[in-house]
Amino acid sequence: MENENQGRRLVVLGTGGTIAGRATQANDNVGYVAGQVAVSDLVAKVPALAACPLDVEQVAQINSKDMVLSVWQALAMRVAVHLDRPEVAGIVITHGTDTIEETAFLLQALLRPSKPVVLTCAMRPATALVPDGPQNLSDAVAVALHPQACGVVVVCAGRIHGALDVAKVHTYRTDPFESGDAGALGCVEEAQLRLFRPWPPAVSQGTHDPAGLQRLLDAAELPRVELMFSHAGSDGELVRALLGHPPTSAGRLRGIVVAGTGNGTVHDDLLVALKQAQAGGVHVVVASRCAQGRVVPHDGQPLPDSAGLSPVKARLALALQLLNA
Ligand code: ASP
Repeated sequence: MENENQGRRLVVLGTGGTIAGRATQANDNVGYVAGQVAVSDLVAKVPALAACPLDVEQVAQINSKDMVLSVWQALAMRVAVHLDRPEVAGIVITHGTDTIEETAFLLQALLRPSKPVVLTCAMRPATALVPDGPQNLSDAVAVALHPQACGVVVVCAGRIHGALDVAKVHTYRTDPFESGDAGALGCVEEAQLRLFRPWPPAVSQGTHDPAGLQRLLDAAELPRVELMFSHAGSDGELVRALLGHPPTSAGRLRGIVVAGTGNGTVHDDLLVALKQAQAGGVHVVVASRCAQGRVVPHDGQPLPDSAGLSPVKARLALALQLLNA
């Protein structure tokens, strides 16, 4: 396998996460500090990378629950720079599991790369008795070097997930991601890919919008889009509080994404407040709080739906749409 890798340059970008986490005891898989181990040290532990021409960069060193625009900007810029290098076959990004689906979505929406951009992660820190990071990184390398791979994917626990579908669905197990109805794109077995379906067609078109990327890089903040649930007892007070709140450093409220019940339904009392927000120029989008399925559009639905995106991805999609408006 290692010989096949020769001559195909890879870039590995580190952003932190549990994969780079350190605990004081090897049997502690939860009481660690994320983002401690340098990405160059993570790479050094992966034999598949030894024979591969490689550039390694530490773009950030954070717990991904604390993701901020400046890290996304730095990451998007580095990914774009490396994608433009003809000698680069693919990019691997080490990342925390908590917001990896948001970063994957953002990079896919901004860059639509025709080369593979493979995010990987771990549920156990690098200091664990049996860390999962080295195998995940090794699998990510196999995906990034695959001749047909393209677009942004997440590789974890031997499975390959598309950026649009992937969601973290478990708090603890080492295979915490699902791709809902779409299912995983494939799996990695002993450095070989077994695809369950073709790579998503939109991914392989490579329709990168440089202006959209530049707008993100130039932005001081993303347009302010808040996310809330509809739940038993939702009375709209949260919306009214947001509407009455003075603009923050991120500016005035521009949008609200509601994780609605079931097929994107919203409590009547919350709906009244959301309509009030709409009337005041705030964009409102409804997704579903269900872990699976999409909001199935129907005549007379009171609010626009998220076109199949999960609430966190719908929030990002709306923010990007407003940024580009
Ligand atoms: N909080 C960690 C992070 O997202 C969790 C992980 O990586 O599994 O950075």
